[in-house]
Amino acid sequence: MNTIYFGGGCFWCTEAIFLSLKGVISVTPGYMGGSVKNPTYEQVCSGKTGHVEITKVDYNPKIISLEDLLAVFFYTHDPTTRNRQGNDIGTQYQSSIFYVDDTQKAVAESLIAEMNTKKAYDKPVITDVRQATEFYKAEDYHQNYYDNHKSDGYCQLIIEPKLEKLQKRFEKLTLTKDEYEVLREKGTEAPFSGKLLHDERSGVYTCKVCGQPLFSSKAKFDSGTGWPSFDQALPGAVKTIEDNSMGMTRTEIICSKCGSHLGHLFNDGPTPTKNRYCLNSVCLDLDQLDK
Ligand SMILES: [Zn+2]
Repeated sequence: MNTIYFGGGCFWCTEAIFLSLKGVISVTPGYMGGSVKNPTYEQVCSGKTGHVEITKVDYNPKIISLEDLLAVFFYTHDPTTRNRQGNDIGTQYQSSIFYVDDTQKAVAESLIAEMNTKKAYDKPVITDVRQATEFYKAEDYHQNYYDNHKSDGYCQLIIEPKLEKLQKRFEKLTLTKDEYEVLREKGTEAPFSGKLLHDERSGVYTCKVCGQPLFSSKAKFDSGTGWPSFDQALPGAVKTIEDNSMGMTRTEIICSKCGSHLGHLFNDGPTPTKNRYCLNSVCLDLDQLDK
């Protein structure tokens, strides 16, 4: 797993953008680069601390490359305006990349130089490329902001159109709307709608977000419920947590590596394990054994 930090304006937006990418294991809004220890949102917004609103992005470079992350970063904000993104003005909104190693620094700097040589924008790209300093996680109410405030005006007017544009431009890199709703927002696909329901190929089912191997095809059975079902998970691949939503007590299954929602676990399975891991097709990819 690798980490990089992006400042591209308001972190409610950048968090949602990076969460929509395959290969991004987790995204955490926070502050970096200023002079005050443990700054609050109010202090950072005053513009006096020197911190930048950033998102920490943990990613699996085998699934999403640094170059692809940078392409998405530059596509989804304006890197030519000093200390400003749209109506948001202040040093906390400066376009910034905080790198953790020399490779990230070199790749980011050469990309910016190339964009400026080729005049990719009307004005020069002035993104700051700086070495990462101490990361301060933002207050809890900033975490998962888009998912928790989807019906708010800001999310509908600013974030949603950005995500739609991103999905169109980077179709291969992004989760579809259906995938996002299940994996990131704990939704459930309609029964009998999933592509993998009657798939009988051999192989290993992996997490669509982070690539972690989750289930062997040998554990798959037809439960008649309309969702792909398995009687056991690969060792350590998933975690279970109590889920009291929808007026029921159920056991939620999440990926142990990236925390993405996968489905629910029931104990009415037909095999000796009695387990029925009820999965959403959209959460899984199949790595075939013999292609
Ligand atoms: Zn995962």
